[in-house]
Amino acid sequence: MNQPTILRIPGPTPVPPSVTRAMQQPMIGHRDSETAEILRNVQPMLQRVFGTTQQVQTIAGSGTSGLEAAVVNCLEPGEKAIVCVTGAFGERFVSICKAYAIDVIVLEERWGDPVNAERLRETLREHPTTAAVFLTYCETSTSVLNPIAELSEVVHDESDALVIVDGVSCIGAVPTEMDTRGLDVVVTGSQKALMLPGGLMFAAFSERARTKMKQTKTPRFYLDLQKYDLATNEFSTPFTPATSLLFGLQEVLHLFDEETLDHVYARHELMKQMTRAALRAMNAELLAADDFASPTVTAFSISGTPAKDIRKKLKNNFGVRFAGGQGHQKDTIIRIGHMGYCTPVDMLQAISALETVLLELNHSFTPGAGTVAAQQIFLNQGGAIHV
Ligand SMILES: *Cc1c(COP(=O)(O)O)cnc(C)c1O
Repeated sequence: MNQPTILRIPGPTPVPPSVTRAMQQPMIGHRDSETAEILRNVQPMLQRVFGTTQQVQTIAGSGTSGLEAAVVNCLEPGEKAIVCVTGAFGERFVSICKAYAIDVIVLEERWGDPVNAERLRETLREHPTTAAVFLTYCETSTSVLNPIAELSEVVHDESDALVIVDGVSCIGAVPTEMDTRGLDVVVTGSQKALMLPGGLMFAAFSERARTKMKQTKTPRFYLDLQKYDLATNEFSTPFTPATSLLFGLQEVLHLFDEETLDHVYARHELMKQMTRAALRAMNAELLAADDFASPTVTAFSISGTPAKDIRKKLKNNFGVRFAGGQGHQKDTIIRIGHMGYCTPVDMLQAISALETVLLELNHSFTPGAGTVAAQQIFLNQGGAIHV
């Protein structure tokens, strides 16, 4: 039998069948009115997803192009930026800033911890000329959801720095509230909570950021966000868009609208709780504390059982893919993705498969305890979340 691929990694994530079908439509001209129509249609829902009245730019490129766009549009060589590093994606911001000769102050936490607001406050006081603070909303490598509302408040209290947020692995699964939280630049990608294949980047920016971009002289061409800003005013794009992905995006946003964003967010919260309760019942160690655990991904380890053995058996026995760690945690942790086209029953499947593998590997726990714990969490919410 051709084994199915059950993707429970934190991106790329499964694509809903109606989105796959939408992407198979015949090609249209990017200067035709049909393309303008799609760009017009997607704007209101993208703004709700971002929580902004600013327009959201849709750009062909992976999530990292969004990170790079934030840097080259907002900062010049020699300007100072604080990069909050809580894992591999915070490190990526450091690398991009260094590539553009930004004067980088790294504020690093132990991988598995969130950014500490008081340390950020002290760092801002030590560096009063800081032009931007970089935050990772969900640090995918450790499954920590950083408290960006609180951190943004600290930045605005202490400085005039821009707040720049990488939301790649959670926007569309958690509230972003860009405007009320004072986030100046927010970027995400298509292949995580937005249920599309890789290839699109989304960026929105505040009026403050727009002003800074006008003054910023760092050379840029394809990733010049001002070009997209102007084109989006006319429901157009400066260059050929990834049209098939736009077809898919329109369908994704239609699915969000049908389900309602509140239900989408509550479903992710429930999947997180089911996963964490199950892992605890299986005597797993969770990397992130409850208060900072992301609704989109969960990182854990099983003491005494190598992570790669577990992942290999899940793949060979069931076709279930979990991810390993990143950087120095590559071989020590496992990450379960539960975002996008993923529902509570998918978690029951993943948990039960994991239990079977742990039994096979002689890990000590009560057989079935993980599944029972997840079922209990599901039952406790009284049917509020359903498919
Ligand atoms: C996946 C991811 C990215 C970027 O990914 P690409 O591979 O460039 O699409 C950036 N930041 C975070 C937090 C991510 O999870």
